[in-house]
This record gives sequence, structure tokens and C-alpha cells, in this order.
Amino acid sequence: MFEFPKRVLAFHAHPDDTESFCSGTLALLKEKGYEIIVATMTAGGMGGINSTECQTIVTRKKEAAAAAKVLGAEYCCFDQRDGFVFDSEDLRHNAVELIRDIKPGIIMTHLPSDYHSDHRTTAAVAEIGAMLSTLPNLITKSAPLEITPLLYHTTPLSLTNPVGGLPYPTPTFYVDITSVIDKKMEMLSKHETQIDLMRVMHKMDNFFEEMKKNNVELAHMAGGKAQYAEAFWQHLGGGFQKDDLIQRELKDFIIYPKSETEK
Ligand SMILES: [Zn+2]
Repeated sequence: MFEFPKRVLAFHAHPDDTESFCSGTLALLKEKGYEIIVATMTAGGMGGINSTECQTIVTRKKEAAAAAKVLGAEYCCFDQRDGFVFDSEDLRHNAVELIRDIKPGIIMTHLPSDYHSDHRTTAAVAEIGAMLSTLPNLITKSAPLEITPLLYHTTPLSLTNPVGGLPYPTPTFYVDITSVIDKKMEMLSKHETQIDLMRVMHKMDNFFEEMKKNNVELAHMAGGKAQYAEAFWQHLGGGFQKDDLIQRELKDFIIYPKSETEK
């Protein structure tokens, strides 16, 4: 079996997305010796209250870098405009360039059916970027990869589909993140700008506690075996490898949906 590099690229649209949706699992993979790189499509310039877009970009990049540091991860930004992420030839090319440079064994990104337009575009670019990364006819500074990285999708903020309905396709698996919830909360706490924004935009009194509640809800959906959980959908469509690498690496923390274990 091909040995995938022990490197994860968490590729999401905005600062705080990685922390919200998969940082517990990243912390567990870090403990297993994985190198983590956090990339965001934008610096989240619209995510400011009493702060201009430019000021917000500067602040949120610092917050994102500080959160990545908690995990011992690198942080980079594609500098797209928040709310205006459009799929384009340049963006795909840059995504391939990054993927070939990093050489990840695993890429995590949003669900293709996420609630946020920027998230959906980022998912599409990450998916095609992964697929193109092995193809020699696409010339970039770095050489093509030997094998397409494994692709996993993370949870949408509301745990619903774009119009608010349930259900999503059943997650491939849940990860018990109870042992690393404090690290996840520490990472989230670096995004101070989001406390006020979420209070105004989503009427969340405490953004960080709401994120924690999502992990409790996911643990409940996973059957109540964990206190806090994250959920993942492995991308098993055409062109992608079927290796269940995360599931094997984190086997002591994986909870499969009931329908799967009952088969
Ligand atoms: Zn986002």
C-alpha cells in the first residue's frame, strides 16, 4: 500500500473555520506525528465590527497565525476577498502550486454543500486542486505529486444543509475529541474579533461556547459515546484514493455512524 506523507493541509475559506470544524482532529493527528498546515482562502476581512476591511484583514491574519501556533502548525493565506471567492483558473493553479509544495497526504476542506458560498467555492477548488496535483501536463514550480492526497470534508457551522434542512449525508465517521477539547478552545480563543461579530451576525452570545455546543451535538449524533466530537465525510468519488488513513491512524478515537456498525 502506498505510504501517504504524514502531512495535513487544512484548507478552508476563513480564519477560524479550521479551528471550528476540525482542530480537535488535527490536534490528535499532531500527537501521531503529523505536520499540519492551515491555509485560508481569505483573511476574513468582512468579519470585523468597528474595524475597516483592511484593518480586519491585518488583525485576523495575526489571530489565525496565533491559533495555528497553538497547534504547532504553519499558516498561509490565499488573500482572496472575503465574500467574493470565485472559482477561477488562477485560483486553481495557485491551489495546485500550494498542494505540490506542501505534499500533503491528507487535505481537509468544507463540504461541497456547505451553507456559505465562500466555503462551497473553497471546497470545489481544494477538490480539483488535489486531483490536478498529480497530472504532469499542468506545469508548476513544484513537480507533480506521486498520488492524489486523501480528501476529507468537515462539518458546516449550522450542521445543516444550505437552506437549513436536515439531514446531510451521514458522516463517514466521527472523531472523539474529548481529550483535546481544551486545545481546540485555546485555538478558537485566539479569534477575539469573532466574539462581537457572531453576537451581531448570528446572535450568538458566546461564539466559543456555541462552537463547543456543536461538538456536544456531534457527540450526541455519534451515539453519545464521546463528550465532544467532530465529523468527517471522506471524499470517495472518482479519481480519489479510498485509503481510510485518518480512520486507521486515530482508530481509538473513531466512532462510526450506527447504520455502518449495524451492517
Ligand atoms: Zn468560514
